[in-house]
Amino acid sequence: MSTCMLCHTHFEEVDSWSTLFSLAEPDPLCSTCSDKFKKVDGELCETCGRPFLELSDEYREGNLCYDCVRWEKDARWQGVLTMNRSIYLYNNFAKDVISLYKFRGDYVISAIFKTPLKKAFKTHFNPSYLVVPIPLSDERLYERGFNQAKALAGLLDVPVHEVLARTHLEKQSKKSRDERISGGNVFRVIDVVKDKDILLVDDIYTTGSTLRHAAAVLIEAGAKSVSSLTLMRG
Ligand SMILES: [Zn+2]
Ligand SMILES: [Zn+2]
Repeated sequence: MSTCMLCHTHFEEVDSWSTLFSLAEPDPLCSTCSDKFKKVDGELCETCGRPFLELSDEYREGNLCYDCVRWEKDARWQGVLTMNRSIYLYNNFAKDVISLYKFRGDYVISAIFKTPLKKAFKTHFNPSYLVVPIPLSDERLYERGFNQAKALAGLLDVPVHEVLARTHLEKQSKKSRDERISGGNVFRVIDVVKDKDILLVDDIYTTGSTLRHAAAVLIEAGAKSVSSLTLMRG
């Protein structure tokens, strides 16, 4: 008998050969809860991993969605982000779970995402990538107590490299100086990334703006390529 980590009901584990021999983690969720997560599935935008299934044809150009076409048309952003892949659609259930995860600072909920994250990493990427979490500003870190992107990256069981930092654009006194350094970008690179394939990790891909800003400073610092793995697709 197991207890669902989200709704706390007891449920019977379906024994499979892999759980019997401890090859796989036991399922942390009952089937009612796990069915409420919708996996990103079917034909995807080659770049951002958005599913084409529920997207009307006018938002699609070949293998790209309209958002990616627009990013790629802009010389400043062209080729900056090689590929994003997300695991779940950011539906209302996912929203509730993520807010619980963010604001309760709940590492227990990490257990729910460990297996699917590792699987996505293995499917789309490989251990030669330098895994880099999107950093949280000091203010937000203080509010929340932990960085969920770093916690998610840690679930991959590969070394995590914190090569990005936030500039403090929000602090007026430092604003002009930091903006001069970063060219208005909130991120800066604090370690060597030359010739590396970078894999950014974050919780949600919404507009792709945060990830592209992070990718831009990494490419500027000499990274060979930047891709991203995000838990949810907004
Ligand atoms: Zn449940
Ligand atoms: Zn796209």
